[in-house]
Amino acid sequence: MLRTPTRNKWYELALNDRRWFADGPPHWKGADQLFEATTKQKKRIERLSHFSKTKPELAPLVRTLRGCTARTRCLSVACPVCARAFKRLATKQIRTFLKLRERANEPIWSLTIVPAEWMVSSDRLLLFDFAKAAALIKRTLLKADVKWAIGAFDFSWNVDASGRLPPRWSVHTHLMVSGDRRQIKKAMAKVFRPSAYVSRPTWTTEMQPTAFRISYPFKDFYVSKRKPIVAGEKVQDARLPVAQKLRLYTTLDLLTFSGRLIMFRVRFGTEGNLTDVSGRKRQDPQIESFMRLEHLDMAIGRGFIAF
Ligand SMILES: [Zn+2]
Repeated sequence: MLRTPTRNKWYELALNDRRWFADGPPHWKGADQLFEATTKQKKRIERLSHFSKTKPELAPLVRTLRGCTARTRCLSVACPVCARAFKRLATKQIRTFLKLRERANEPIWSLTIVPAEWMVSSDRLLLFDFAKAAALIKRTLLKADVKWAIGAFDFSWNVDASGRLPPRWSVHTHLMVSGDRRQIKKAMAKVFRPSAYVSRPTWTTEMQPTAFRISYPFKDFYVSKRKPIVAGEKVQDARLPVAQKLRLYTTLDLLTFSGRLIMFRVRFGTEGNLTDVSGRKRQDPQIESFMRLEHLDMAIGRGFIAF
């Protein structure tokens, strides 16, 4: 596992605050408690170490998760305890950020993008270019003249109920966006087209900035979706097959929290606070260096493990 030993990324500094690992606020319906995440972590370690006997490439992830203690956290996206802490941090800080926007009467849209091009076979998931995907989203947000946006990559294993299409991982995004809804929809429709796999690649709804809704893009549970080809039939969620779980955990571990996030004209500080940087000069050296850091994260997470 190639992981930078320096603890100077914004989320590493922000997650030094132990409250994100505790059970205090933010609270929302269905939010898991620390003991639940710890139980999940234990189970994940057991399962991964079992499979690492035949898949030695899983061993680094087992070591990372085993090294996650209350004193030193592993900060892997594949760690249920750390993923929960990051979700809590993001939810709290975005909520504070949105409360200020609410007073300014700025409407917030929930925008989900499921690009057909991001449907990949199981063995391609590890090779998925998240930096390129995030850049495409940001370019489209720019065309939509969006004020700011924040969200994250999400994953589902899609199985075609008719059996006509082979199963695919769907990498997609959930974003919170401020801007003109019509312009957003128009710009998205131009770039993200329907296909046999995805009948509706983007959708926008007005978003109530509750902790539950804000936490959704940062969710740390992933499902298998049985997608019928016949329109109008209900999509059924199921548990991920074991082989796909292993694939996903390895991908998540390489992704890092910065890599999973998509931010447009907003920035997290080292305290974890979220600020609007839309009004600032583009050449702001702080933003530039932050963007470089974001890309460095991506470079680190590329192509070192394959199975
Ligand atoms: Zn951890």
